[in-house]
Amino acid sequence: MDLCKICDHGLETIISFGEMPISNRFVSDLTTDEFFYDLSLGFCPKCLMVQLENCVDPDMMFNPDYAYFSSISRAMEGHFKEMADEIIVSVSDRPRPFVVELGTNDGIMLKHIAERGVPHLGVEPSANVGASAREKGVNILVEFFNSKCASEIMDSHGQADIICGANVMCHIENINSVFDGVRILLKPEGEFFFEDPYLSNIIQKTSFDQIYDEHVYYFSGLAVSGLAKRHGLELVNMVPQEVHGGSMRYYLKKGSGNPVTNNVDFFLSQEKALNLDSLEGYASFKERVDKICSDFRNVLLKIKADGKRVAAYGATSKSTTLLIYSKVGPGLIDYVSDTTPTKIGKYTPGTHIPVKSYEHFLGDSPPYTVLLAWNHKAEILEKEQEYRKGGGKFITFFPEVTIE
Ligand SMILES: [Zn+2]
Repeated sequence: MDLCKICDHGLETIISFGEMPISNRFVSDLTTDEFFYDLSLGFCPKCLMVQLENCVDPDMMFNPDYAYFSSISRAMEGHFKEMADEIIVSVSDRPRPFVVELGTNDGIMLKHIAERGVPHLGVEPSANVGASAREKGVNILVEFFNSKCASEIMDSHGQADIICGANVMCHIENINSVFDGVRILLKPEGEFFFEDPYLSNIIQKTSFDQIYDEHVYYFSGLAVSGLAKRHGLELVNMVPQEVHGGSMRYYLKKGSGNPVTNNVDFFLSQEKALNLDSLEGYASFKERVDKICSDFRNVLLKIKADGKRVAAYGATSKSTTLLIYSKVGPGLIDYVSDTTPTKIGKYTPGTHIPVKSYEHFLGDSPPYTVLLAWNHKAEILEKEQEYRKGGGKFITFFPEVTIE
């Protein structure tokens, strides 16, 4: 039995997906062997954290070739501008504010803080995306954040008013050390907030493609509240976010007895109503995943039997779980269209579907397109009005397979 990475209690398995390749390792040479690991999701009945049972070495995933640049999405640009505005307002009355962001990526958020002249530091383990942030005037420390790193930052810069991270906390296996680091680095009156895909949404929508190597944790308010307590912090607010198919932002303060918003009560009660505090809440998840996968495969089989072309839109990391578990390869999807230069010309991990440019997709205009980047659906449907007017149809799969 695998053990909980937070409290060492034995994990209960929610679903096993079998052998998976590294989700972001697009293949350039089909003759070389790929690395596979066993992807399983577990629930800790003691601290209530949902997590991967086996983790992949971070060096395998976040290497210098790391291909995800946040700033490519317009919707994400707007989201992070708003986050920066909120931070600027909240530190405006501080005498010498200091803002630390964990997982700065290409500086999509912190560049706004830098532009306003607010002292800041971004901690980013990927050297190439970190370099892109530096070009935007952002101060970057290329390192994995943990308690040791936190002590070093405190010695060199002092404590922080705000520590934040978007889509980063769920990636870090040794989250106990990160929370210890936050407690060390945060001023007594400071605030720590982070946002990640929300477990309630994943369970309710059956959006199982969020489950892949890079996402070690699937946070709920219940689990975050307990994790915070273990590290001398307190969950004081929860605010849902319309990104990544439904994220949650958690606000934490030091100590206990801080004012807590009604939102925390509301979401914790809702999570309990969904039984996310017991294995029962996850009982039908695998069955629902299996149904989506067989429906998805059958829809593609039928289209191909009719001799029609099928493309996919967005060579996302998360689509690896969907494609492998549904057994969908180049026989059912002709190519995946993507705008990321480092992915074009390569093949999807494990399934080996060719990745082609967005221009290729526009020229080809296939009758069917699988919307792998479904979390950007609204933005993509608006952008692709011409394609749809010309008869092109998008296939989506959460909470059920739909052609529109
Ligand atoms: Zn646990």
